[in-house]
Amino acid sequence: MATLKDFRNNIKPNWCPGCGDFSVQAAIQRAAANVGLEPEQLAVVSGIGCSGRISGYINAYGFHGVHGRSLPIAQGLKMANRELTVVAAGGDGDGFAIGMGHTVHAIRRNINITYIVMDNQIYGLTKGQTSPRSAEGFKTKSTPSGSIESALSPLEVALAAGATFIAQSFSSNLKQLTTLIEEGMKHEGFSFINVFSPCVTFNKVNTYEWFKEHIVDLEETPDYDASNRVAAMTKIMETNSLVTGLIYQDKSRKSYENMVYGFKPEALAKQNIQLSEQEFDKL
Ligand code: SF4
Ligand code: MG
Repeated sequence: MATLKDFRNNIKPNWCPGCGDFSVQAAIQRAAANVGLEPEQLAVVSGIGCSGRISGYINAYGFHGVHGRSLPIAQGLKMANRELTVVAAGGDGDGFAIGMGHTVHAIRRNINITYIVMDNQIYGLTKGQTSPRSAEGFKTKSTPSGSIESALSPLEVALAAGATFIAQSFSSNLKQLTTLIEEGMKHEGFSFINVFSPCVTFNKVNTYEWFKEHIVDLEETPDYDASNRVAAMTKIMETNSLVTGLIYQDKSRKSYENMVYGFKPEALAKQNIQLSEQEFDKL
């Protein structure tokens, strides 16, 4: 059985020392080992951005896609090879700006994959511009007088789009992050995990200290019911989207691929797909 070290390769990440993305990489590797995967059973698909490099740093199948397009690739991969555990990963710019159309529709489609967003509330790779997650008033080279747009709440959007699994965590909390990724991998449907992953080089506002001060962890609310959609929206809004933990899970809905006519769990390549005309008409 594979262990954590089997998911490590010898490529040294070129992230800045202290970047939150290191923890996300470690959490994916730990979660994969903990749920009992072998490296050849995991595929990591990433977008463009500092965080997009993650697919090259994990010993598994990796696909570094184009900007904002990790989800179409990941969904196609899962539909073609249902035996794989598929993780899509990227940044807030990648997923909530150029890729937002894909994000919303992948959420409501509910294909059984896990989507992890490394949310640093800035564009890091291009040296620090305002992102859809930057707060109002946030000053960068692209908004020198402060952003006059309101920040997007990905949790509210995900819930409104019909997500069946929504979680949020923080790079400093490796234990929680690993557990949530494990839960996401085991969830039968699309699991969305937003991770506060500080950019230590360009975001001098949303730092590790800032998050520690502002995060509201669901552990503080022991009677919280993650199956209650209204309670989830209330909690997200009450905390200004700074809540961490498993926020919402609907275990009753089947994943997309399970509802496809003639679904079989094996990879398509292993199926002898030769439909008669009548069968084809039924599709
Ligand atoms: Fe991480 Fe920011 Fe450095 Fe990019 S620029 S590697 S996001 S710390
Ligand atoms: Mg970013």
